[in-house]
This record gives sequence, C-alpha cells and structure tokens, in this order.
Amino acid sequence: MNTPLNPLDLSGRHFLVTGASSGIGRSTAILLHRLGARLSIVDLDEAGLSAVQAELRGGGQVEPHRTDLSDIPAIEPLVGRCVAANGPLHGVVHCAGIQAIVPVRTLQVEGWRKIFAVNTEAALMLGKTMSSRKVYAGEHGSIVFISSVMGMAGSIGAIAYSMSKAALDGMARSLSLELAPRGIRVNCIAPGFVQTPLLERTGKLWDEGQRKAVEDLHPLGFGKPEDIANAVAFLAADTGRWITGSVMVVDGGYLAR
Ligand code: NAP
Repeated sequence: MNTPLNPLDLSGRHFLVTGASSGIGRSTAILLHRLGARLSIVDLDEAGLSAVQAELRGGGQVEPHRTDLSDIPAIEPLVGRCVAANGPLHGVVHCAGIQAIVPVRTLQVEGWRKIFAVNTEAALMLGKTMSSRKVYAGEHGSIVFISSVMGMAGSIGAIAYSMSKAALDGMARSLSLELAPRGIRVNCIAPGFVQTPLLERTGKLWDEGQRKAVEDLHPLGFGKPEDIANAVAFLAADTGRWITGSVMVVDGGYLAR
C-alpha cells in the first residue's frame, strides 16, 4: 500500500453524504470536502443544500440532490444521478435521520414506519446500490451509517428510534460480510447527544434542569457535529482500512456507566 502524507486524504474519491444540509451531515460534508473528496450531497432541505454547496467552493465537485429518503424506491435512481454527475462512488455516509419522542401508549404504526424508513431502510438501499459495479468505483470502498447510543441503551419515549438504530447496527454487520470481498467496508458510528438542530428540537421539551441532567449523562458534556465528522473521516479514509462490521461509539462517555 502506498501511504499518502496525510492518511485521511480523500483526493479523487466520490462520497454521497445524506442529511448534508444540517448538523452531523453538514459537518461531515465540509470535512470530507476539505480532505479532497468530490461530493453528492442529499437532503430534503434544498436551501440548506445550496448553502452548503456555496460554502464548499474550490476543490472537488459538489452536486446537490434534493430527495426524500423515506421514498425507498427513489433511492436507486438518485444514486444513478449522483454517479452520472460525479462519477462512480467510493463511499456513502448516511447521516439523514429522524427522531420523535413518543411513549409506547401513543406510538402509531405510521410514525414508527417513517422513522424506520429514513433511519434504516434508506441506509440498506444505499448500501445495496454500492453492490453494483455501475455504482461502486471498485476500490477504497467505505460505507458509514450514523447510528446512535439509543441502539444500545434504552431511553423513555425513544422506542421507535432505538429500534431503527439497533436494526441499523445489525444490518451493517451482515452487509459488511457480503461487501468485504468487493473491498467495501461497512461501519456504524453511535453518537451520544450532539448539539445539532435535531437535539434542539428534542430539547424544546426540557426545562433548564432537565437539559443539564441529560448533559450530565455525558462525562465529557454534549458533543459537537465535528466530533462525529472526525470519526466519519477516519472510517471513510484508509485510516479505517482494517475496520469493518463495527459500531464505533463516539458519545462523550454516555455508555461508559
Ligand atoms: P439534523 O440536524 O436534524 O439533520 C438531519 C438532516 O436529515 C436534516 O437536514 C433533515 O432535513 C434531513 N432529513 C430528514 N429526513 C429526511 C428525509 N426523509 N430525506 C432526506 N433528508 C432528510 O440531525 P443530526 O442531529 O445532524 O442527526 C444526524 C444523524 O445523527 C441522524 O441519523 C441522527 O439519528 C443521528 N444522531 C444524532 C444525535 C444528536 O444528538 N444530534 C445523536 C445520535 C445520533 P430536514 O431538516 O429538512 O428535515
């Protein structure tokens, strides 16, 4: 293996990043682009995509694609458009995700299916497209799914979200075994609470004391989107070349108790 000066170098590689308009996905897109990658950025929020694209002037090409990832059959054509615009893919980072705090008594089928579709089924469909020779660039393959500590630890009101993330972790382990012979690695990252618009929406239900209590569950405090983007870059680049089928916990110590 030729070791580059910067082992995180992604020059010449093309990554599809979902949820790229906001929070963890936005930070991930910015960092992967700084590391030299070409990007296809995907989100529901078109204005957010344009803002990120404007921020990423210079360097590798950045193509925005406004898509609703809960529409699973739309994902294969989306990936086709990304490849047509920016060349075959070296990797996918699925950051788009939704969360809703709903206790079991009021949980509805449509609600949990929507969460499962975006968080888990979209991830599987994105991973499935990478098994195609028309899509995968054929080397340095890396798929990263953003999971959650809630896939491993319970939390009141997070039943559907926990289900979606635990299933994501299990799906990624089996997918990693199928894609390893093609040289594609598949990993999850399980963040603790990270200061993003998603956390702000969830936190609207908390008073100051409750917010402090949640932060205190993290010995290192709340995380920042960059903390997760750094872990994504490590797994996406050749620094992660011997890591597959794993769930990397990046949680400020949340699960250490
Ligand atoms: P965020 O700031 O809300 O960003 C998520 C992005 O995904 C938004 O731009 C959102 O667009 C987009 N999105 C949602 N549904 C979509 C759909 N159906 N199709 C396309 N795009 C869609 O959230 P975040 O905190 O960065 O979360 C990113 C990932 O990290 C999620 O998978 C989340 O579960 C996971 N995570 C977050 C935390 C945390 O504390 N923040 C902790 C653990 C895990 P709209 O804004 O237009 O809906």
